[in-house]
Amino acid sequence: MALAAESPPGLLQKAFEANLSRLIAGLFPERMAAVILLHLDSGGVAASLGLPFFLESARPWGSLIKPFTALAYLASHAATELPQAICPPAVNGREGEGCWYLPGHGALTFEQALAHSCNRYFHRLAQDIPPEDFLRTLVSFNIVEQEESLSMASLPDDQLHKAMTGYGRLPASLPIRMAHAYLVLFNRGLLFRSGQIDGPNRASRRIYLEPSAIAAIWRGMRLSSLEGTGRQARQGSFPIYTKTGTHSRKPGSHNPSHLEGWCVAVDTDVSAGVLALAYVYPGRGATEAAPLAGIALTTYRRWLAPQIQ
Ligand SMILES: [Zn+2]
Repeated sequence: MALAAESPPGLLQKAFEANLSRLIAGLFPERMAAVILLHLDSGGVAASLGLPFFLESARPWGSLIKPFTALAYLASHAATELPQAICPPAVNGREGEGCWYLPGHGALTFEQALAHSCNRYFHRLAQDIPPEDFLRTLVSFNIVEQEESLSMASLPDDQLHKAMTGYGRLPASLPIRMAHAYLVLFNRGLLFRSGQIDGPNRASRRIYLEPSAIAAIWRGMRLSSLEGTGRQARQGSFPIYTKTGTHSRKPGSHNPSHLEGWCVAVDTDVSAGVLALAYVYPGRGATEAAPLAGIALTTYRRWLAPQIQ
């Protein structure tokens, strides 16, 4: 009786993973879809569902980089507040160096810019960030290794500004590393290092985070889940925090056959807290990754977190 020998938590875990796998297969047949779920307090993997080659390959992140760009700006200005900016309508209906949202987002606070993932806002921020400060931030959050940051340092400024905005193939890193980088924003600065999805988690160090900066990022990610690009991640009545990203494998193309979508969604109200990182390819980018992240959080609540704080 192999089943009888297993503990109820083990059975619950299997039921949870089977349930979530069925949901993913039903929603995204014949596409690549993956989810990583991490515990906020320990950095431990609550679940990782997806193809091994996806989870073990370095990937570009699109706009998931934006909170780290904001932190690099604050570090380089010894500032505690982020500026406001204006996102005007696109000229001749072309995206160019402007925003993916062609009508323009108008006047934006940082929180609104993060919630709506405004490229114009972050491209403006990028002009005022010394590349070394951005690269230092990437290394300190373990998004890239020191050697990779040194090779990025030789890129022309315009390419680095695109990287800070969320365009292009760099920086690229393993999904587990980006998930851990976001975890830092929600567990009072504790960075867990893990090279592989099944590797050991080591709380390597605590990163000092300016409380006002983290509060602004939390407000922006909450707004994203309410009215921004992450709103489709809200699959239940409980509050969450979200950030989305879309990467085109063919630069400049918005054709769904080229788009990779990402969404980070965080549930801090559930016991101990959990973070979901979801990925869908091909498809409509973040628009499809967001509901997947939300379904992962809802399924987690249903199966593994019966005790809500
Ligand atoms: Zn915009």
